[in-house]
Amino acid sequence: MTENYDTDVVVVGGGPVGTMLAAELRLAGAAVILLERLPERSPHSKAFGLHARSLESLDRRGLVERFRDGARTWNNGHFAGLDVWVDFSLLDSSHGYALLSEQARTEELLEAHAVEAGADIRRRQTVTGLTQDAEGVTVSVAGPDGPYLLRARYAVGCDGGASLVRKAAGIGFPGTGGRVTARLGDVRLADRDKAPMGMERTERGLLFCVPLDDRYHRVATFDFTPPDKAPDEALTLEELTASMRQIWGTDLGAHDARWLSWFTDSARQADRYREGRVLLAGDAAHIHFPVGGQGLNLGLQDAFNLGWKLGAEIAGWAPAGLLDTYDAERRPPARQVLQNTRGQIALMNPDPDVTPLRELVENLMRIDDANRVIAEMLSGVAVRYEPGIEGAHPLVGGFGRDLTLQTGDGETRVAELLRAGTGVLLDLADNPGVRAALADCPGAAGRVRHVTAKSKEEPDLAGQLIRPDGYTAWAADRNTHPDRVRTELGTALRSWFGDN
Ligand SMILES: Cc1cc2nc3c(=O)[nH]c(=O)nc-3n(C[C@H](O)[C@H](O)[C@H](O)COP(=O)(O)OP(=O)(O)OC[C@H]3O[C@@H](n4cnc5c(N)ncnc54)[C@H](O)[C@@H]3O)c2cc1C
Repeated sequence: MTENYDTDVVVVGGGPVGTMLAAELRLAGAAVILLERLPERSPHSKAFGLHARSLESLDRRGLVERFRDGARTWNNGHFAGLDVWVDFSLLDSSHGYALLSEQARTEELLEAHAVEAGADIRRRQTVTGLTQDAEGVTVSVAGPDGPYLLRARYAVGCDGGASLVRKAAGIGFPGTGGRVTARLGDVRLADRDKAPMGMERTERGLLFCVPLDDRYHRVATFDFTPPDKAPDEALTLEELTASMRQIWGTDLGAHDARWLSWFTDSARQADRYREGRVLLAGDAAHIHFPVGGQGLNLGLQDAFNLGWKLGAEIAGWAPAGLLDTYDAERRPPARQVLQNTRGQIALMNPDPDVTPLRELVENLMRIDDANRVIAEMLSGVAVRYEPGIEGAHPLVGGFGRDLTLQTGDGETRVAELLRAGTGVLLDLADNPGVRAALADCPGAAGRVRHVTAKSKEEPDLAGQLIRPDGYTAWAADRNTHPDRVRTELGTALRSWFGDN
């Protein structure tokens, strides 16, 4: 680092996405300062669950056991509050379930991980402005000791839906405004015994009601009318109970709210995730109605995708265009989530004319293959980064399975090999093309872990190149001619791991 920079990357926002990204950047060798305006983590949890792709990714960093420790798992999820459950056990995943991890707990675990990785997390620091030039980014910060400037090579806005970074970088946030008002409270219910469980639809809206512990319930009403207050105006308990009475007929004696919040179905996506040296991740890049529990999970995947690429850029070995693949790869999955949440809102509409459509979708969901499509969509397992290479092996672009491997040093798993955050080249059939490609690309060869192994699960595979985020960059079958292996693997090594 030259003396002109205070750090390599300033991450703005210490929510789940900012902390995950800070840890990933550290793993890739970048120096990171994370600025968070709040003095401490919020004790209140918006999100409650981690889905399969998040768990698979956390496994590839050795974190999944921490998250599983003491946490409940369940196989079912809901889609638009329909009566037929989404069955996550249908997923082709080593983590085919959802994990109950309240956002406060998720953030605590991720922050501990980021600190262990060496991220410099600074609280009570509000970013007030940001400018960039050809060499770096200057971030204006208001801290307890007054305003100051920080200079970094790059800045990443993980500062939520109202992102200042996004606005300062001049990145647009097109989409649809709020037409549904959701009012949420963590409250005690005098009529606890009469509380419904899950999501109930009436002709006036929907009521969501689940016990949080033996004292509190989370209650939310989904009112299909636009908001009647300014975005920064707080929700009152009276407004929540009035909405419960209007939609459900009774407020179940709701009292003692320990957290109240409201939001809409506004769905927006940044028109680009990168502007020069400024990037966006998480809610700063995409917002949508929190149905299906997807937002935090989506943001974590942004962090896994961006961390190693930005780290490579800073380390100086990134091939041309690598950082731009972040936008290309991560915008489509977010667009898909915006669409599926809009679709769920349409199905949740209290209009009785929607009821037959709900029944039709429920009938489809009774078919395993259809149910699996929805499970793959909600859990992120459907995500592939299409390589755009004609004749590419079907595994390329997909998330690398957690194969059990027999190596000279004993048995291991793909997830374990990826923990160091480098790429992994599985050499499964002693194809001479593999060694030839490595010899052709000495720079890239030094950045991937070359593992000679046998796989009982993939006996026909000659090899697989897996990126640090777990996605497959190259694969070939056992009968592939060594010359073809040499050419295709060489191209993949140079495209993803550079050649300098
Ligand atoms: C009711 C509800 C339920 C949800 N349930 C789920 C669920 O079950 N599963 C799921 O995956 N998602 C769920 N979500 C969505 C999820 O909570 C968000 O997607 C997630 O919090 C986004 O994380 P983030 O780190 O991108 O942003 P945030 O969590 O918004 O974090 C942004 C951080 O940036 C800080 N910040 C902002 N501006 C500045 C600044 N100028 N300077 C310094 N710091 C700043 C903020 O203080 C904050 O800590 C739910 C959302 C809601 C509202």
